[in-house]
Order: sequence, then C-alpha cells, then structure tokens
Amino acid sequence: MITLKFGGTSMESARRILASADIIVGRARTDRISVVVSAVAGVSNGLQESIDACVAGTQPDKFVQHLRSVHADICAELQSKLPGFDASAVMKHLEPSFIEYEKLLTGCVSFGECPDTIHCRIMGMGELLSAPIMESVLLAKEQSVILLDTRRFIFTTGNQKEGDPDYTKCAEAVLPFRDGENSSQTHILLFPGFVCSWTGGTGRQSVPGLLGRNGSDFSAAIIGASLGASKVEFWTDVDGIYTADPRVVKDAILVDDMSYEEAIELAFFGSKVLHPKTLAPLAAKNIEAWSLNSHRPEARGTRIGRGPFESEKNVGDVCGISSLKNTAMISVSGTGMRGRTGMASRIFAAVSRASISILLITQSSSEYTISFCIRDAEADRAVDALKGEFDLEIRDGVVNPVEVHKNCAIVSIVGDNMIKKRGVASRFFAALASQDVNILAIAQGSSERCISCVIRGEYGDTAVRATHRFFFNTAQSIEV
Ligand code: ADP
Ligand code: MG
Repeated sequence: MITLKFGGTSMESARRILASADIIVGRARTDRISVVVSAVAGVSNGLQESIDACVAGTQPDKFVQHLRSVHADICAELQSKLPGFDASAVMKHLEPSFIEYEKLLTGCVSFGECPDTIHCRIMGMGELLSAPIMESVLLAKEQSVILLDTRRFIFTTGNQKEGDPDYTKCAEAVLPFRDGENSSQTHILLFPGFVCSWTGGTGRQSVPGLLGRNGSDFSAAIIGASLGASKVEFWTDVDGIYTADPRVVKDAILVDDMSYEEAIELAFFGSKVLHPKTLAPLAAKNIEAWSLNSHRPEARGTRIGRGPFESEKNVGDVCGISSLKNTAMISVSGTGMRGRTGMASRIFAAVSRASISILLITQSSSEYTISFCIRDAEADRAVDALKGEFDLEIRDGVVNPVEVHKNCAIVSIVGDNMIKKRGVASRFFAALASQDVNILAIAQGSSERCISCVIRGEYGDTAVRATHRFFFNTAQSIEV
C-alpha cells in the first residue's frame, strides 16, 4: 500500500485533474494505493469568504451559484477530454451538497453567526465535491476504485476545527481495507482530505470536524499511517522541498533528502509545502514521505525519512530557511518577575486557558522579561488573558503593562548539521545586519536544529533572501 495526496494545485482544473489521475493510474499498476484529494484550488478560500459574508447578512445565492459553476465547468471540460466521463451524471450526484450548502449559509444569515459544527460542514464541502469528480475520472479510466467517506475513518479530539487524531480508533476503522485483510480488495481507495469526525474527547456521538487549514496533508499522513502504507507521496506544484520558498528566493536549491526532524521544523516555522502536523505520524512508523511535482512527475522529488542519507555529504550546515508571517510577540516584564518562582507558569497557563498555542519562547537571562510569539489574530485575546492574570501586580507596578509587537515574522534556519558547526548563528545575524534588519528576539530550538529570529513582518522576505545568500551563495554574500 502506498498513499498519494493531491493538493489544490493538482486539482485546480480539468487538465490538472487528468494529469493527477494519470499519476494515480501509474502507481496503481504496481501497488494497491490510497489517494487523498484536496478541494479544487481556491474553493476553500471561497467557502470561508461565504461564511464571513453570510454571517454579516449577505444572501447566499451568489456563493452557491459560484460553487456550482466552478465544479460544472470542470466537469464539462472533463467530459470533452475523457470518453466515459458523464458531466451531468456527476453534477447530479453533487447536487445534494449544493443544496446543503445553501441551507447552511441561509442559517448563517438568519442567526448572524456560524457555530463550529456548521463551520466544519461548510468548510469541508470543497473536498466532498472534488473527491467524487476524481472517482468518476478513475472509473472512466476503468480503474478499480472505491470512494470512502473520511468522516468514518478519521476521528479527532481536542479542537473541533483543528483536531488531534485518535490513532487507535482510525486504525480500527480502516482495518478491513488494509492489504491482505480480505481476498477481493479494491485497488484504489479514494478519500476526501481535510474532513473528519470530532468526538470532542468525550466519546459521545461524533460530529463533523476538520484537521486545520491546509489539513489534507495531515489527512494523508493519518490514512497512510493507519493503513500501514510503505510510503506517502505529497503531490504539489513544485519539484520538492527547496532551501527556501521558491516564490520568495528565485535561486532556491532543491533538497534531495531531508530528515523528519528538519522537515518538521521547516513546516512548523512557515514552509507552506507541508502542513506542520503531517510528519509526526509518519516519523513514528518510519514511513517515508516524498514531496513531488504533479506538473512534472518525472522530477525526482524530495525524500523525507530517517536518514542519514548519502546526499547529505554535499549539503551545508543549513538545509532550509523559512519565514512565518502574521505573528505577534508578547512580552511580560517587571521587577516582580525577577527570581520569583511560578511567573512563567502563570503566563503560559493564562495563555493556554485562552486556547492559544505558542510558537516560540525566549527569556532574558536576568528573568526580567519573558517573551513569546503567537499568531497575530490571537494577540488581543492573549493580552486580555495576561491583563486578567496579572491585574494586581500591574496595578502595584511590579509587573509592567503587557507589551505587544504585532505583524512580526519569525525567520528560521534549520539543519541537523548545525549542531556540530560553529559560527552558524553569527552568520545568520550577519545576514540580517547586512540589510539593517533589527532583531526583536532570538530563540534556539532545544534540539539545536533550528535558530529563529523574530523581526518586523515587512522585512520577512528581505531577511529570507539575505540569509539564503549568506548560506547558499558565498560569492554574493561577500558583495553585500
Ligand atoms: P498544495 O495545494 O499542493 O498543498 P501548497 O500551495 O499548499 O500546495 O504548497 C506548495 C507551495 O509551497 C509551493 O508552491 C511553494 O510556493 C510553497 N513553499 C513554501 N516553502 C517552500 C519550500 N521550502 N519548498 C518548496 N515549496 C515551498
Ligand atoms: Mg498545502
């Protein structure tokens, strides 16, 4: 069994869907496979916009019409290109979803709000629409395929919109579909990504949940791990993982092989190429992950695995540079912080009670200031939580008013080899200094595999480019 995941960029048009289907058919010649598909590119953003607009009172018609026409256009084009693909039969099959979408949006207009379960039902529609289209394409290509409802196979607890999988329950649910479990097994298992069932951690009846924005990568990892896949392939629109986002750094270098830990750090600190939670379930079972280009399937791609890899000998100290934008840095300081026990735990307990996750923490050695980064959108809530927690101390002047820097970027350099090398950090700081980028805070991962600098958001791209020059292009770094 191998698992393949096709992102929005591999599902954006009839042409791309056909190219992705060819890759599926090719893989299915030699293996049983499971396939996870994302929504058609742009659909998830459209669904989010429709929720926001309808909560504010806009009527749903135009959003429903738009969603229907995006899929109708793709189906019509598929019919013209693929014998045996019946556009009107597929659209008829999708119609109940469009009707449900209209009903749910009408509810949002009436109530002026969108409760979490409704949000999950609406946001998951993109995948529930794209997967039957792929199923019909594969059937037209005479493949042995079964479309499975992921909500019966992935169960989550924790946050409804960004759940944590209950791996035991997922493995039990997919058991009949594992290799060798029965004699007449369908060759291709097809799953819509992103959607799941949320049990609220209480074990009670489950309701629709989601795996977080861009969560289809995570879906593929959960399904691959549960089915005991030998590898999981992530098909996207670039040749693999580069030393930096190729949209930002034009001469970024393709990395052949990367350790799980390196890829996890890069994804956590903003490399959009893989969803941050994706690699943990694969690393736990030593399942190799590959990042591949569905627009150029002949390219080798990047392998992510246990290592050490032969290719690493040619690689420098750093394997990648990432930048996480739209973050806020919050600092708590004051004379009352010095030497007093329990201050850090009070800060982090207050933030955690507000369900805000922390991206990075630094502390000045005098214990006078504790700073941490979170997402911009959560900054106001974090400040309120801290004001509440330290109300007395702030009034007494032993803790200063909470400081917030919004619109920051966290720029990180990542590499397993950094542990053994000297001077890596100083080169990073020199790169930022060369562009007069002021560093607000510095943090080193406890694994020594990652160093991060917090800077003002508007310098994010400049910082990544300069750092890339200093680490990967020494000739140019001397010029600067
Ligand atoms: P998909 O829809 O297939 O999930 P995404 O748009 O989510 O695709 O991810 C692919 C994009 O990730 C690429 O087009 C690229 O711009 C971006 N990206 C960011 N950092 C990197 C990196 N280090 N290597 C490769 N791609 C990266
Ligand atoms: Mg993605």
